[in-house]
Amino acid sequence: MLTPFLGIERVAYFTMEIAAAPQIPTYGGGLGILAGDTLRTAADLELPVVAVSLVSRSGYFRQSLSVEGLQSEAPDPWDPAASLPRLAAKVAVPIENRDVWVCAWLYTIEAHSGGRAPVIFLDTDLPENEAADRELTHRLYGGDTAYRLKQEIVLGIGGLRMLAALGFRIRKYHMNEGHAALLALELLRQAVVPPPDQRPGEPPYDLPDVRERCIFTTHTPVGAGHDQFDYPLVDRLLGNFVERDTLRRLAGSDRLDMTQLALNLSGYVNGVAKRHAEISRRMYPGYIVRAVTNGVHPHTWTHPAFAALYDRHLPGWCHEPEMLVRADCCLGDDDVWQAHAIAKRGLVERVRALTGVSLDPDLPTLGFARRMTAYKRPELLFSDLDRLRAIARRRPFQVVLAGKAHPRDEDGKRRIAQVHAALRALAPDIRGAFLPNYDMALAQVLIPGVDVWLNTPQRPLEASGTSGMKAALNGVPSLSVLDGWWIEGCVEGITGWSIGDGPDSASDGDAESLYAKLEREVLPKHAEREAWIRVMKRAISHNGSVFTSHRMMRRYASEAYL
Ligand SMILES: *Cc1c(COP(=O)(O)O)cnc(C)c1O
Repeated sequence: MLTPFLGIERVAYFTMEIAAAPQIPTYGGGLGILAGDTLRTAADLELPVVAVSLVSRSGYFRQSLSVEGLQSEAPDPWDPAASLPRLAAKVAVPIENRDVWVCAWLYTIEAHSGGRAPVIFLDTDLPENEAADRELTHRLYGGDTAYRLKQEIVLGIGGLRMLAALGFRIRKYHMNEGHAALLALELLRQAVVPPPDQRPGEPPYDLPDVRERCIFTTHTPVGAGHDQFDYPLVDRLLGNFVERDTLRRLAGSDRLDMTQLALNLSGYVNGVAKRHAEISRRMYPGYIVRAVTNGVHPHTWTHPAFAALYDRHLPGWCHEPEMLVRADCCLGDDDVWQAHAIAKRGLVERVRALTGVSLDPDLPTLGFARRMTAYKRPELLFSDLDRLRAIARRRPFQVVLAGKAHPRDEDGKRRIAQVHAALRALAPDIRGAFLPNYDMALAQVLIPGVDVWLNTPQRPLEASGTSGMKAALNGVPSLSVLDGWWIEGCVEGITGWSIGDGPDSASDGDAESLYAKLEREVLPKHAEREAWIRVMKRAISHNGSVFTSHRMMRRYASEAYL
């Protein structure tokens, strides 16, 4: 089963979450989608990568919403045994001085070109483990700090041991965010300097050897995205896994900071957009932080109606999406409009089925969907309802939103309710719907089905953002704050529109700027069919062609992996 994957050296891609397929709920949001797109591209391009993640049997959560927009959460379980082969290896990791056993399931990502990429899902739900340990790989981003640290021990240390037990030969270890940084501690242990060669005052490990093999991608400037653990907890769970002084030197003297650990043990470090790399360099002075701008998987995120169009006029685009650069010249206006109309009908039907709201397929539709949390500012569009009504009286439009708040993010949940209240207040003047349980499958319907993709993060906290890239592949322009990838993707009035006065400007004028752009640029342009289709085509040719995971992975391959 694994034999075809063991022949050549691979890059091991460690990630806490991964959207390996729409029906496997082992992801919470953008980070997991990116991991899935990374592996889908590895399969397409036949790059030798193996992903390691947790099986997360209870999934992230299923969101349901009351009429008032109160979120409730239910487990979203899946059973790996129902569809995946279990691999014939078992490894132990040390937690609180006992062995916790880890087994693994194999999911194989298959590209339509025939390439394949393996995903190893780690699982501690084994009869030889104590009851509490059996649940360590159940809940994604659930549980307390000790639970999280145990998960990260399973992921980093268990994952590394599992790859070895399965017979993988690994040339580089790529940490997708700091969650996986404990893998570097296991590498340290394997790189002990023999006592005669140890130097007083120096760590007894070959640090350059470990750095040579590790790559670290940091994904957010938001503090809560960076795990930190108190040393009493670390000492209790991990004991003397690596030498005490070395650990404090590499991971921080007060608390174990996973980001710092990863920074100190990786020979290649990058942020996920040019702006994000710049912000990260300011956050971590003294480290070289490169920029590899994120991308999305072309075939996964292109609506079938557009995929058929590209197949007809730009054959080979799935392997070489750069070919989409010609979209503005060689796609017919009517064909683009028809493909969009099909995508939009699909969305209108889904909205009716999910919420009972009937959207008008002829009205311009704004879309907004992402994790509902403070810095994403989902409420910004609704900061002045009278103003919105006034705009809609002259130029009618409608809105579709979606997004989950993390179960412990009370502020994020309040924002969902706030958006619901705004939508109720706006009806009947402006039609709108909030779709429950935003996930990969819903995103595939929602994003291509709208006319304008809205994004309003608080600068500079959107490291990259990827949903606007998915929109571009489907000829949907963005109306977005200049942050993350949009600083690279926005050509004003050509590929979409910016909100605010630029990446360094204050955010207080953003609502006004959003309303002005909507009223004076976006909606009037939408009323001119030909001019609008020109924008759609340029979104495809300027941005759809560039912001793909194929470009991203070719860069990782040539600059970090080789
Ligand atoms: C693409 C995607 C995201 C990430 O979108 P951002 O623009 O980065 O916020 C989150 N969730 C789902 C389901 C997605 O498809």
